[in-house]
Amino acid sequence: MTTHALSTAPGATFMSFPRLRALFDGQVIAPRDADYDQARTVFYGGIDRRPALIVRAKGAADVARAISLARESGMELAVRSGGHSLAGYGVSDGGIVLDLSRMKGLALDVERRTAWAETGLTAGEYTTAAATHGLATGFGDTGSVGIGGITLGGGIGFLVRKHGLTIDDLLAAEIVTADGELHRVDAEHEPDLFWAIRGGGGNFGVATRFRFTLHPLDTVVGGMLLLPATADTIEGFMAEAETAPEELSSIANVMRVPPMPFVPEEAHGKLAIMALMTYAGDVAAGQEALAPFRALAEPLADMLRPMPYPEVYPPEADDYHPVATAHTMFVDTIGRSEAETILEHLATSTAMMGVAQLRTLGGEMARVPVEATAFAHRQSRIMVNCAAVYERPEEVEVHGPWVEGFASALKQDDDGAYVNFLGFDGEARIRDAYPGPTWDRLRKIKARYDPTNLFRLRPGLNTWRVAT
Ligand SMILES: Cc1cc2nc3c(=O)[nH]c(=O)nc-3n(C[C@H](O)[C@H](O)[C@H](O)COP(=O)(O)OP(=O)(O)OC[C@H]3O[C@@H](n4cnc5c(N)ncnc54)[C@H](O)[C@@H]3O)c2cc1C
Repeated sequence: MTTHALSTAPGATFMSFPRLRALFDGQVIAPRDADYDQARTVFYGGIDRRPALIVRAKGAADVARAISLARESGMELAVRSGGHSLAGYGVSDGGIVLDLSRMKGLALDVERRTAWAETGLTAGEYTTAAATHGLATGFGDTGSVGIGGITLGGGIGFLVRKHGLTIDDLLAAEIVTADGELHRVDAEHEPDLFWAIRGGGGNFGVATRFRFTLHPLDTVVGGMLLLPATADTIEGFMAEAETAPEELSSIANVMRVPPMPFVPEEAHGKLAIMALMTYAGDVAAGQEALAPFRALAEPLADMLRPMPYPEVYPPEADDYHPVATAHTMFVDTIGRSEAETILEHLATSTAMMGVAQLRTLGGEMARVPVEATAFAHRQSRIMVNCAAVYERPEEVEVHGPWVEGFASALKQDDDGAYVNFLGFDGEARIRDAYPGPTWDRLRKIKARYDPTNLFRLRPGLNTWRVAT
C-alpha cells in the first residue's frame, strides 16, 4: 500500500513517500519509519507533535524543495536547526519538518579569521572545530543549541561583553526565501534582509549558511563557581559583574543546589548562586578578575580554572528533555531588595527546579547602535530569566503562575524581551522584543520576502501576518 504524505490543505497535491524520497537528496522520514519518533523529538519535553513528514536536508537545494513543497501543498512548515526552541517551533503537528541537522559543513578561513558554517551545526560543534585553530565565535551557554536559531535571534553568551552578540560577528548569510530563491545577503547585498535576520528570527526564510568573524581565543579562565545565595552574595555578585573587565561574562543561576557529587551534602537543596563564568583573556588577569567573586563567601564549589574555550560548554545528556516555563525580561539593577525578592520567591517554588538566571550585559554588545540590527536591546543592562523546570506538562497550572508572579515582582522600567527566550508568550511580548521602529521595519521586510507568512512557526505566532 502506498501512503500519502500530503493531504491536509484544500487543493493540496497528493504525493507518495517514494515520490517524495525521489525529490530530495537527503533523508525523508515518514510516520511509519523506525527513526520517526527520534526525529520528531525536540529538546524540551512535553512537546508531542506528529509531523506528516520530516526532511533531513542535505543542502540548499533540498531546503528550496522543502519550502516549495510547503508552499504548494499549503502544509505547515517547521524549520529545525538544533531543536531548542522553547515552544518547540522546530516540529510541526501534521506538517513538514525541514530538519537542517545533517547540514554541518564548516569552512574555516584561518588567515582571514572567518568561517562559513552550515546551519545544522550546534554551537558546541562549531566551537570545537574553530578551537583547533585557537579561534572562536560566541554563541550561548549550551553546546547543543543550534547555530540556526540562536544566531537569527541575536545570541547572548559567554563572550557577550567582550565580542557582543552572535549577530555582531555575522558577516553574511545564505538564505532561501518563501519563493524558493537562494539569496546571499550582507551589508552590501540586500541590506534590509541582512538587517532583519540579525535578531528578527526565522521569519524571512531558511538560513542555510552563515559567515562569521572568528576571534583569537585559546585558553579562557572559566567554569562554575558555586556560592551560597544570600541577599549579600547576590547583590555583591551583580555589583562585581557590572564593574568587572569586559573580558568577563557571567551567568548567575540562583537556584537550589542539586545533589551534585562535588558539592558537600549539607548544601544540597539549599539556595545557591551557580555561576557560569568566562574570562576571555590573559590567564593571570582572569584570576584577578575572578578573585572578588570568590571572596563574596566561602564557595560551595570552585571549579574556575584555565581551560580550552570549548570546555565552557558543560557535557550534556542526549536524553535530557526538561519541561519548563519561563519569563524573560531585562532589568536595570539587581540590588539588595531585588536579591531579597529573588530569595523569597525561590523559597516558595514547588517545581523540581525554580531558577532566576541573571546575565550582566554591556560591553561590546552595548556599543553597537540600536538601529544597526533587529536586536533592539543594546542598552539593556541585565537579562533576567525566571524559570521553573518540572516533570509533567500539566504542572504548568502551578508553576506558570509562580513564574509570572516572580517575574512581575522583579519587573522594572525596561519593557524589552529577548526573542530567543520567548516561548508560548503572546503578541504583547513579541512586541516587547521588537519595539517601535524595529517592529515597523521588520513588518515591511516580512511583507516583501514572506507575504503569505509561510515561516510562521517561531515566537509570536501569527502576529506577523500580513495581507496576502
Ligand atoms: C538549554 C538552552 C540554553 C539556551 N541558552 C541560550 C543562551 O545562552 N543564549 C541565547 O542567546 N539563547 C539561548 N537559548 C535560546 C536559544 O537561542 C533559542 O531557543 C534558539 O532559537 C534555539 O535554536 P535552535 O536552532 O537550537 O532551535 P530550533 O528549535 O531548531 O529553532 C528555533 C527557531 O529558529 C528557527 N530556525 C532555526 N534554524 C533556522 C534556520 N537555519 N533558518 C531559519 N529559521 C531557523 C526555527 O524555525 C524556530 O522557530 C537556550 C535555549 C535552551 C533550550
